[in-house]
Amino acid sequence: MSGYIPDEIIEEIRSRAEIREVVSEFVTLQKRGKYYTGLCPFHGEKKPSFTVNVERQIFHCFGCGEGGNVFKFLMKINNLSFPEAVRSLAAKVGVEIPVREFRGDRAEPGRREKLLKVNRLAADFFQGTLTMPESGKARAYLENRGMSPEAVRRFFIGYAPDGWHVLKNHLDRKNVAPGDGEEAGLLVRKDRDRFYDRFRDRIMFPVRDLNGNVVAFGGRILGPGEPKYLNSPETAVYTKGRVLYGLFDTKEEIRASDRAVLVEGYMDFLSLWQGGVRNVVASLGTALTRQQVQILRRFTKNVVLLFDPDQAGRHAAERSLKLFLEEGIHGWVVLLPEGLDPDAFIRKSGAESLNGLIAGAPTLTDYYIGTLMGPCSTVEEKLEQARQALPVIGTMSDAIQRDLFLRRISESIGVKEAVLEQEVRKWRARKPGEKEPSTAEPADGPPLDAVELSVLFFFMEHRSRLGGGEAWKLFPYFLDARVRAFGEAWVRAYDETGTDPETFLENEENGKIREKYYEIMIGENPFGEDVADRLLEDMTLKVRKRWYRFRHQEIQKDLLDAQKRGDADRCLRLLEEKNRMLLEERSR
Ligand SMILES: [Zn+2]
Repeated sequence: MSGYIPDEIIEEIRSRAEIREVVSEFVTLQKRGKYYTGLCPFHGEKKPSFTVNVERQIFHCFGCGEGGNVFKFLMKINNLSFPEAVRSLAAKVGVEIPVREFRGDRAEPGRREKLLKVNRLAADFFQGTLTMPESGKARAYLENRGMSPEAVRRFFIGYAPDGWHVLKNHLDRKNVAPGDGEEAGLLVRKDRDRFYDRFRDRIMFPVRDLNGNVVAFGGRILGPGEPKYLNSPETAVYTKGRVLYGLFDTKEEIRASDRAVLVEGYMDFLSLWQGGVRNVVASLGTALTRQQVQILRRFTKNVVLLFDPDQAGRHAAERSLKLFLEEGIHGWVVLLPEGLDPDAFIRKSGAESLNGLIAGAPTLTDYYIGTLMGPCSTVEEKLEQARQALPVIGTMSDAIQRDLFLRRISESIGVKEAVLEQEVRKWRARKPGEKEPSTAEPADGPPLDAVELSVLFFFMEHRSRLGGGEAWKLFPYFLDARVRAFGEAWVRAYDETGTDPETFLENEENGKIREKYYEIMIGENPFGEDVADRLLEDMTLKVRKRWYRFRHQEIQKDLLDAQKRGDADRCLRLLEEKNRMLLEERSR
């Protein structure tokens, strides 16, 4: 059994290791400019094509295409599994890996109990601290936010004092080993045997599982500082995206009313609850996960989304729509008046009006068609929107629902259903796992599209730019289905769990994409911050242009076909579409 190693520890090991030293034990490296090169240990060669980039701590061989980080190198050269490679390197760089056999619900019973006990002790401690004289600032904050003493008690809201060892000392007094505090995510190990409190000067919101156990904490900073909200790391009892805040307390109300109101944050949850909306639950983070939807579905299939009207909120609503459709959930959506989050809205207009909004909420499908598809006047806008709807329609598993949705979109934007249907078929054909013989490519087919790969790698490098949804806007224009599928999968994984590119690439079956990634990244960074804006603009233009060219060719082909068959109707429609495309392209 290899056992589970926490992400932070893996990161720590990686940051302490020096790839050049590790590689040097097996390969004689020579410095060449910014890089080190040597004879590849993975394939026979006479001229060195094996390259190490110390700045990025990665290697790549231009001869055989092997590449990755220091763990990958060790795995490959010593024939180790990933955990084995991590462990062997840990010993070398002097990082101790905590003993823990399994993760999540499969944690050893004794271990799991222990961590839950530590969390419970901490929750009690934070709660007690809140009543101390020196915590006036924290109490004032809660009072200002309109938090009633009842809510504070019911949800175990507490305060982590401003100090480095306050909780640590308390745990010492309770005979809790600091290693256990660390494993519970409450203490951070500074070096071998020094620890400090992870949460300092923060309002503490314990997160409980369906049995009422405290499995994690969210801490809101009181002063200016960053981050505003700090959450527990993943532990043996807590996996991100698998817990819904407040569900333990509200599940009976949700079941009884057969409806849940879903919000994003702790404060939104608490103000709705206080305002009398008792079937509320919070996703904690903008991206609702499939696991969360599946948990919620055990209590109701009717979910009202309550999101901020900003861009992120809209994006979240769109994502949720897809999840709901796939998981068979009926959704409604309440968009609050511009600028107000649920908490602010209740304080301004009262719970009554919020209840009114919830009762009259449009269905998610209506919302999608009416708002996300937006009011549009020109044909180009309509087509662009139809195109954006394709991934949504394409993922719908229920054929009846799909037809209904198609019809509604067709009515709404005035594009013929048949045209949409055809587009959907094409879109689906491009998806992996839904191979249609005409479009399916063998795994080792033609070379990957270099431009689209660059766009993808650009976003991998500039992950902070993903928030605006730029990548999702571009993916539909990708012509290489393999690159698109991979890109979509990665962005989704990144949104949900923050998976970094290297880790994601390691698990990706498409070795060609991994190879290209390291081939590009091993050299001078092609995506430097100084050129990023211009680069993205150029690549965006190029990708779109090529898509239009491709579509023109397709239409041309169809047109010839229709002419041969003497199908005048079809010819006319195709010509119309061609014109529309020309207009649209020109308007960009
Ligand atoms: Zn090689």
